[in-house]
Amino acid sequence: MKNSINTELLARYAPHPGRHALLPPLTAQQEVALTCRMLSREGYNDHIAGHITVKQEDGSYLANPWELTWSELTASDILRLDQAGKVIEGAWNITPAINLHIDVHTARHDVSVVIHNHPEWGSVWSAVGRVPPIYDQTSALVDTDPVIYDEYRGTVEDGEAGRAAAGALGTHKWALLANHGVLLVANNLRQAHLRAITLEWRSRMAWRVEMLGGGTPLPAAVAAATGGRTDANGFPFLWEAMAREEIRRDPSVLE
Ligand SMILES: [Zn+2]
Repeated sequence: MKNSINTELLARYAPHPGRHALLPPLTAQQEVALTCRMLSREGYNDHIAGHITVKQEDGSYLANPWELTWSELTASDILRLDQAGKVIEGAWNITPAINLHIDVHTARHDVSVVIHNHPEWGSVWSAVGRVPPIYDQTSALVDTDPVIYDEYRGTVEDGEAGRAAAGALGTHKWALLANHGVLLVANNLRQAHLRAITLEWRSRMAWRVEMLGGGTPLPAAVAAATGGRTDANGFPFLWEAMAREEIRRDPSVLE
């Protein structure tokens, strides 16, 4: 299972004399902390809500803690959880709502990353119960439409509500949870980041276009072909570029 953002595809562009390294070597915890910071800046910023969980080779999970915002945490704040979601490494708590993530990981052995949050723009379309149309190229970087789970049964720390949301995701890559937020899965953090920011961009762009009276969505076949290319590889160099911005802003994210 590949948790690292450093996929084979990047290895093709590995640094050699005359070419720059994209980033210093990073630990798995540093990758999770950087992804939290990046996504917070992209709209995944509902205070202390939301989690990123990353399954490790030994079956444990890395996750962000309950007490901290995604924009303040650092690598040493990242927790390790056992397969039941209990903290086995780290100095913070994990919210009971983690059961949503454990349910999805248990059902989806084909993915290693689960993200849930209540992002600014995705939550608007979740509330309306509509899939945002694809009005531009950047909105098309991930193919397929998110599924809509059109029922709100309460916060997901209630096991039944969490299992229902996980069940609604089914075999899909992403979902809008009505009156709640978004849920998405991915093979690695690079792909998860692309899916998260594309959903938010697509939601914001569609809102703006429709506020101006509407536009013409991309032809479905063009959108599918575009997203089919970029989603599979997580858009090389994008995660690294955004990680560098975070490290420049606050190098302590790596501590
Ligand atoms: Zn939630």
